Amino acid sequence: MVSAEEDIQYLILIVRKDEEIQNKKKFLKNAPARIGRVDSEISRMDSQFAENSAAVAALEAENRKLLGKVKEQNENITKKKALLTQIRENKEYKAMKHEIEFLENQVDEEEERILVIMDQMVVRVKDLEEIKKKIANEKGALLEEKRKLEEETARDMEILRKLEEEKSKILPNLSGRVQRLYERIKEAKGDSGVANLTGDVCQGCHSRVPPQKAHEIRRNDSIIMCEVCGRILVFYEDAPSS
Ligand SMILES: [Zn+2]
Repeated sequence: MVSAEEDIQYLILIVRKDEEIQNKKKFLKNAPARIGRVDSEISRMDSQFAENSAAVAALEAENRKLLGKVKEQNENITKKKALLTQIRENKEYKAMKHEIEFLENQVDEEEERILVIMDQMVVRVKDLEEIKKKIANEKGALLEEKRKLEEETARDMEILRKLEEEKSKILPNLSGRVQRLYERIKEAKGDSGVANLTGDVCQGCHSRVPPQKAHEIRRNDSIIMCEVCGRILVFYEDAPSS
């Protein structure tokens, strides 16, 4: 036969496990978001690098193409100018002159575009250098942070598993009636079926317990429930820090 005093001592062990379990669960719940933030910072750097690299490559390709075209057109202009001296017929001369002008205009436009490309390249190359520097300085630390978070998560999952195991070993020590009561309240509350009384405040729902009742709870010799949240109230000093 388990006495009420014994039940309460086991309930104290159980609520302390429940507190630790809840703390671990809270950390574990936040871990994916924390890892996600680090991940998105890394991928933002990587995509900035990729974007600027692609832009520089595209500008270089366009520049190369334009330079080739300008060279070809200039050769063409030189040829046509040479031919021009041999043309006697006025109409034909005018047509050739017109072709040359057309080509010269194109070359002007292309050379202007080349200048714009050069300016854009300066900006893009500078951005690329900056992002390269940023990656060199920060990416390693971010990867390390991610690794630590993942390690911490794995460790906490193991701790959580152990806590649940330890708790499952304490539970059968309770009297059947109190164990069923505990399970029912825990089911309803989600965190624990028990709460500590600190001063005269229930730590489960933070409501105040009348002084006479608080006095009875502190004796830890009978099963008393919080009138507000329904958790079994027990009394113990200083919650373990975790
Ligand atoms: Zn309460």
